[in-house]
This record gives sequence, structure tokens and C-alpha cells, in this order.
Amino acid sequence: MSGPGQKNPRVVPCPTCGREVPWTPASRWRPFCSERCRLIDLGQWAAERYRIPGEEAPSGARGPEGEREDER
Ligand SMILES: [Zn+2]
Repeated sequence: MSGPGQKNPRVVPCPTCGREVPWTPASRWRPFCSERCRLIDLGQWAAERYRIPGEEAPSGARGPEGEREDER
């Protein structure tokens, strides 16, 4: 069969669960399969960000235990 008119819907794997997601406007959460997977992925990203191991504080470290910034 030869039909150039037949479009093959592009399918991408969901970054979170690996499920195949058709790359169509109908897929609202692409490249994720669902909103949940999207949130999970964002959650992991944030978790990794906040999960910085080590005691090295970035710039702005006044002391080893200076956790009173709100209080004056
Ligand atoms: Zn998924």
C-alpha cells in the first residue's frame, strides 16, 4: 500500500512512566501522558533541586547556623 496522505501520529514516550503518548493537540500534557506524570516529573525536578547534599551554603551564608533572616 502506498498512501502519502496517511499520517503517522508521532508517539513520544512519557518521561515519567514511559508510556507512549501520541504527539497530537489532543494530548494536552505531552510529552507526558497525563497531568499526574507531568506533576511528578516537576516534583522530582524540584526535589532534586532542594535535595542538595552537603553543608556548603551558597552565597549569602553569614554563619554555620544563621537561620534568622526574617527576624530582625
Ligand atoms: Zn506517564
